Amino acid sequence: MSLVDNNATALTVAKFGGTSVADFTAMSRSAAIVKQNPAARIVLISACSGVTNLLVELANGINDSARRQQLLTRLKEIHRNVISELKSPENVLTEVDSLLDSVSILAEQAATQPSIPLTDQLVSHGELLSTHLFSQILNEMGVNTIRFDIRNIMRTDSQFGKAIPQPEMIRQLAAAELQPLLENQVVVSQGFIGSDSKGNTTTLGRGGSDYSAALVAEATDASTLEIWTDVPGMYSTDPRITSAAKPIKEISFSEASEMANFGAKILHPSTLVPAIRQQIPVFIGSSKAPEQGGTWIRESVSEAPLFRALALRCNQTMVTLTSLNMFHAYGFLAEVFRILAEHKVSVDLITTSEVSVSLTLDQTDTGGGAPTLPEKAVKELNRLCRVEVEQGLCLVALIGNQMSSTKGSAKQIFGTLEDYNLRMICYGASPHNLCFLVKEQDAKSVVKTLHKKILE
Ligand code: ADP
Ligand code: ASP
Ligand code: MG
Repeated sequence: MSLVDNNATALTVAKFGGTSVADFTAMSRSAAIVKQNPAARIVLISACSGVTNLLVELANGINDSARRQQLLTRLKEIHRNVISELKSPENVLTEVDSLLDSVSILAEQAATQPSIPLTDQLVSHGELLSTHLFSQILNEMGVNTIRFDIRNIMRTDSQFGKAIPQPEMIRQLAAAELQPLLENQVVVSQGFIGSDSKGNTTTLGRGGSDYSAALVAEATDASTLEIWTDVPGMYSTDPRITSAAKPIKEISFSEASEMANFGAKILHPSTLVPAIRQQIPVFIGSSKAPEQGGTWIRESVSEAPLFRALALRCNQTMVTLTSLNMFHAYGFLAEVFRILAEHKVSVDLITTSEVSVSLTLDQTDTGGGAPTLPEKAVKELNRLCRVEVEQGLCLVALIGNQMSSTKGSAKQIFGTLEDYNLRMICYGASPHNLCFLVKEQDAKSVVKTLHKKILE
């Protein structure tokens, strides 16, 4: 299948993830994909594989200067290895070295006083570095390329670590700053990072480059968004969990959104929001094997199977709030959610009984780790009810069509999982998904068992 669009005005935004820009070989393969598609004039890339993790570690504050130096050396190696393969290394060497120096200074600051704004500033260097290398590689392949700082257009609020983009502002800024560059060259820019109205660097949360690419596609009225990664499309479950996972050729926006939301790491949870707003078809393929094709995500598709896929998200925090005041009372839940909102706690799943409510907390912050309730929120909630927090849980989501209105589907699903303890079952709120929590140690075998019974 060819992704080449012969319409000269068609615009494709192509995003390449960390493994697709891991080193010189991976970058060259990805650059070849850009070169063969004249419509691919905006390219957003992630940091080289592993770099964001190193930067997050530095940003969390490392006091041991030997350890800090070790990480800085590793970072230098990753980027210098690519530079050593360039035809004209001198074109990027100074810029790359000065970014690496800046990482070193910021890491020292983080060792004495880590902060979330500092984390974003430090971590943004991964994408700032990789884009220098990737645009040079494209230029050396004979593609007229310009590197662009996405912070000029990717306007967000100031919630560092998980900033909220402002699509209207992004559209206006893209019209002024980005569109004029697209005439006869390829623009290479950074995923994941943005800037607030004061010019501070922000990030969209881990895995946020997919979301960046979708926002840029929306702002530039692109006709296609391509997500190039290390697997040839979206599978019936994470192929790392079971080799029986099958690729999906075509999937609807609604089903794919549920997949992304419920943990299929292949797409950042918010990626499809801009694509759906602007009805932009999304292609997911492997930069290692573009000839294998991949998955198309669009509004309407030819098949709507009852069971489509399984997603798994670990690191879940479950909070159970219990109070007799809840019994037949009104206003209790409103008060709980007022407190959570005040402390910017984002709630994911909810189940209720007469005297208790259980909820899970959402987490995609750049800082990482299992989400926690801020101490002040716990204090306030304790005035209202008993608060219990449990961790070590994973969320399993089954994605499909008309599940809640199809007779016998619940029996088929739960009958298969008799041997496991399932918590917080959410079923019926969406025709496209059913989900529940399981203990972390059971998670993979639950997914494998269910996959085998209903998807193979
Ligand atoms: P990138 O660095 O390109 O953004 P990610 O590691 O974020 O790549 O996402 C790709 C990974 O997503 C795959 O390697 C795979 O293990 C994982 N994944 C999770 N669920 C799925 C799924 N349903 N289909 C395909 N890949 C999945
Ligand atoms: N580099 C960032 C991360 O590792 C963003 C991304 O790759 O999407 O989370
Ligand atoms: Mg990703």
